[in-house]
Amino acid sequence: MTVFSLYLHIPFCRHRCAYCDFNTYSGQEDLIPAYVEALCNEIRQVGRTAPNRLPVHTLYFGGGTPSLLPAEAIGLILETCRASFEVLPDAEISLEANPGTLTLEWLQTIRRLGVNRLSLGMQSAHPEDLRLLERQHDFFDVSQTVRWARRAGFENINLDLIYGIPFQTLARWEATLERALGMFPEHLSLYALSIEHATPFYHWVARGLLPPPDDDVAAEMYEKADAMLTQSGYLQYEISNWAIRREGRLWVCQHNLQYWLNEPYLGFGAGAHGFVEHLRTANVRSIRAYIERLQTPAQLPFPLTPATEQTQTIDPLTEMQETMMMGLRLTQEGVSRQRFEQRFHRSIEEVFGPTIASLVNLGLLEWRGERLCLTQRGRLLGNRVFMEFVDISAP
Ligand code: SF4
Repeated sequence: MTVFSLYLHIPFCRHRCAYCDFNTYSGQEDLIPAYVEALCNEIRQVGRTAPNRLPVHTLYFGGGTPSLLPAEAIGLILETCRASFEVLPDAEISLEANPGTLTLEWLQTIRRLGVNRLSLGMQSAHPEDLRLLERQHDFFDVSQTVRWARRAGFENINLDLIYGIPFQTLARWEATLERALGMFPEHLSLYALSIEHATPFYHWVARGLLPPPDDDVAAEMYEKADAMLTQSGYLQYEISNWAIRREGRLWVCQHNLQYWLNEPYLGFGAGAHGFVEHLRTANVRSIRAYIERLQTPAQLPFPLTPATEQTQTIDPLTEMQETMMMGLRLTQEGVSRQRFEQRFHRSIEEVFGPTIASLVNLGLLEWRGERLCLTQRGRLLGNRVFMEFVDISAP
């Protein structure tokens, strides 16, 4: 049985951080009620046109800052999802939150409503890093939010951290990791800072006001983090993600696994992306345009809605390439030969044989039983490995 995931985009932030290029806006919070109504309309429309009641095993409130929504709005969106799809009883329901934007009572309410995983944008424990990133919180806000989340009954907490920040030293990064580990999260996501076009960071680097990211320093920080997290009992299961085994379970993010396994998901909200039935979809990005488009119901074929701005049909070769690129990010699981063959009715060697052989020879990929995985060295050169699978024409 194919199970689906739902991504729900909440494009509001109190302030736009200097490095951020996500589809999010500050100063438009007065549009939240109309946006929530539009989001529910979009969910209902897709639920109506779906070929059957789609089973859903993960939901993800991403942003932006979903913790800016009133708890009742979270409840309304979840209720709409449950009415439109078959949300499974043990579904993982994640919500991204920014420390300093929520209260204990709010956390207790959303936990009661069914949200069972909290992902906190901690980024750093050091005030200078946070100031440079233009984050609006400090370390106290993070530790208080984690304490409140535990009191509210959250057993599944992720902390997002950023490394490779200008002027961040290795010692400062280690201190951030120690403070994060001291809060015993179930999951950690570590991202290297990347300088994105049209962000203040991009202009500061271009004008020489900030040093450009140093790849060697970032690689050293990554290796340090891997060593510290492994020593603390965390398992790296994806290039940027670590989970702990606790209470008989490895606390991986089921929603992100859906992306890495290239399985279907529906994206709702301004700028949200979806992938279902060999079709990639992208919604209109502006909040106002999104709300306007959803004011009139339209009869569009599944999975399109009036908010859909772009579609791209994914041909079989592209889908196989994407499955390799994303699956190889899973450092333990890799790409299963059997699963590939069941899905595409072709063997992995038939399609990618010479590429795999040359990457194995270079020590970047290895077979572990029936699974093809990155080697330790391959993890550091992941992008090079992934590109090899893109530069292939149909055999
Ligand atoms: S809080 Fe997150 S989504 Fe919002 S501007 Fe900052 S980095 Fe971007």
